[in-house]
Amino acid sequence: MKRTNLLGLTASALGDFFEAVGERRFRSLQVLKWIHQRGATDFAVMTDLARPLREKLAQIAEVRPPEVVRQEDAADGTCKWLVRTDGGDCVETVYIPERGRGTLCISSQIGCALDCSFCATGKQGFNRDLTAAEIIGQLWIANQAFGNFAGRSERRVTNTVMMGMGEPLLNFDNVVAAMNLMMDDNAYGLSKRRVTLSTAGVVPMLDRLGDVTDVSLAISLHAPNDALRNELVPINRKYPIASLLESARGYLRKLPDTRRRITVEYTLMDGVNDSVELARELGDLLRDTPCKINLIPFNPFPGTGYRRVTPVAVARFQEILAAQGYTVTVRATRGDDIAAACGQLAGDVNDRTRRSERYRQRDMGDEQIVRIVGG
Ligand code: SAH
Repeated sequence: MKRTNLLGLTASALGDFFEAVGERRFRSLQVLKWIHQRGATDFAVMTDLARPLREKLAQIAEVRPPEVVRQEDAADGTCKWLVRTDGGDCVETVYIPERGRGTLCISSQIGCALDCSFCATGKQGFNRDLTAAEIIGQLWIANQAFGNFAGRSERRVTNTVMMGMGEPLLNFDNVVAAMNLMMDDNAYGLSKRRVTLSTAGVVPMLDRLGDVTDVSLAISLHAPNDALRNELVPINRKYPIASLLESARGYLRKLPDTRRRITVEYTLMDGVNDSVELARELGDLLRDTPCKINLIPFNPFPGTGYRRVTPVAVARFQEILAAQGYTVTVRATRGDDIAAACGQLAGDVNDRTRRSERYRQRDMGDEQIVRIVGG
């Protein structure tokens, strides 16, 4: 019999599990704390459970985080884990320390199906959804690596962003379950403001999101008009900008707190979407959407045809929007000496993907080749 991995079960799913095996539901709260607050993977240490129950659990269940293949530490304190999932493919998780906080950037899928033209993950294609255990497992791994389970606190995860590999809304149930664990006081206890889901704009799923959670929302806009966004974010052809912004405002309307805003992410690429005209157009577009704007200087990766934006262009873009009354932040490029910056994550021990990339490259014309990661 296959043992149930308890790592990815929310409090209510864990309650169902205990009920199904003839135990009391409230056991779930004890076990949640053991797994997510003390990092236990062995039922034998769960001493507030009776010994027969511990032995029974060892027979039918397991607590199995994904395996860490390697941890890399960047000069600026950023830290990246290469994590092996069931089946052998790898995803990446990145920790970004900033003054007073530490953000963990979590992957939701192996690869990504959306194929945004400027993103390294999209270039490797889509493999599969991560399970809830593999998603929350990335936070578990960071806590373990930093000694947080053992009471150390020099480095802590205070915020999580679903901004690693994958499109979180295309793995809806598992992402929602993992985010519930992040926010559960019996697990990681992060506040809803410190858990952020970022989407390229899967509108029907975004319409559902507000019915099941109240985490912070970021949308990857990158262009103020459909003609340009169709090129950069192909899913825009299906769900154009107007429908995305309406859906994002709908998400905010479902939240009881009327002061909350979404984050609009805008990756700036030299000569592509960084002009003064586009900055003004963006300001006009967002007039009725409660938001702050996060500018992300494009991070290059092998094989991309896009270039880094100049600091002058970033400053100009920011000033134009700020003058229109927006809160505009610029995301610092962090950890790019270990390819841990936005859009550089590609789970690069995945030989199978690299091989198939090579085949794809051989079949394509020059112009397309520059848009593919060589691996
Ligand atoms: N699929 C989700 C999460 C993606 S990654 C989404 O699209 O929102 C988080 C952010 O990094 C997104 O805004 C994404 O568009 C951006 N990004 C992707 N590749 C990048 C690159 N090479 N340089 C800078 N930002 C990039």
